[in-house]
Amino acid sequence: MKNRVYNFAAGPSMLADKVLNELHEEFFNYHDSGMAVMEMSHRSKGYLEIFEDAKARLKRIMEIPDDYEIFFMHGGATAQFAAVPMNLLKKKADYIITGNFSRKAAQEASKYGEVNIVYDGKENDYSRIPSSEELSLSEDADYVHLCSNNTIYGTEWKKYPDTGTIPLIADMSSDILSRRIDVSDFGLIYAGAQKNIGIAGIAVVIIRKDLIIEADPMTPQIMDYALTLKNDSMLNTPSTYAIYVLGKVLKWIEEVGGIKEIERRNIEKAGLLYDYLDSQSFYQPHAEKDSRSLMNVTFRTANEELDAKFVSETAKLGLCNLKGHRLVKGIRASIYNAMPIEGVKKLVEFMDEFARENG
Ligand SMILES: *Cc1c(COP(=O)(O)O)cnc(C)c1O
Repeated sequence: MKNRVYNFAAGPSMLADKVLNELHEEFFNYHDSGMAVMEMSHRSKGYLEIFEDAKARLKRIMEIPDDYEIFFMHGGATAQFAAVPMNLLKKKADYIITGNFSRKAAQEASKYGEVNIVYDGKENDYSRIPSSEELSLSEDADYVHLCSNNTIYGTEWKKYPDTGTIPLIADMSSDILSRRIDVSDFGLIYAGAQKNIGIAGIAVVIIRKDLIIEADPMTPQIMDYALTLKNDSMLNTPSTYAIYVLGKVLKWIEEVGGIKEIERRNIEKAGLLYDYLDSQSFYQPHAEKDSRSLMNVTFRTANEELDAKFVSETAKLGLCNLKGHRLVKGIRASIYNAMPIEGVKKLVEFMDEFARENG
């Protein structure tokens, strides 16, 4: 494909060329139906095949055990900030705050019940993930909530806390399918699709069946897990095209060698950036070493003027959207699954040049 840039945006973000090509090929006439996917009834046989295929691929790739359900829900990850407590918070829930999105999740949950903040990384500017010893978990919480990868700050959990019989709930919006995880460590996983697994419009929810219990009576139908199960994620019209794109991304993951190969690539890509960052002193990484994200690499130069110059010069070279989030400033390279290693190599080369010219 011509004139494509390397898009380092935090989300919505890049899709693999292979995925875009398939969407393009099938755009006007999906499998001889004479229709575009976005024109198809969600109840039609053709569309139901797309839907079931996406679910089956996700189950296969993530090795989701049989005692879990997969939902495709509306409202992105943000809707799940409310859906999780409305369905599961009966008395009290523990929230671990390692960045902006986990803070938002806790704020939303506090509308529906008692929220116990068991850790807040504010004083280290969310530059690291806490150890288990730093978490004062309750013994009687309905669940423990964390954010697996902190998109804005560039930190990621390497080892999840052991919460015993208390269900662990993770927002994996920015690192789902980036590395192998054991789904059975979690009671519930949710993720907005537009960062690592598709486009905006759906959240994927993976929930252990015993956690599908009676929701708070005020829960909107569309956020009710039991009703979502009963209607197989089609209580109303689902985001048909976003689910189709998810299926294409999952197909691509299987074709390149599954999650193991994706993880290998992600370690290699992030390694190039972190090795370079560790070899010099012009740029300062934001995240502490043992908490570094494979997906969002955050760093800064000596001042904001140089950061801005970096961002504008990279954009001219087709390395786009490297500006850091306003909460952290500096520079952020989001290198999700679809970012080719060539893009990262080009970025590292430029970083070195820029450091020589401006150091
Ligand atoms: C982007 C993001 C969100 C918000 O996702 P929406 O789908 O826009 O609601 C939540 N959590 C994390 C970790 C994110 O990266």
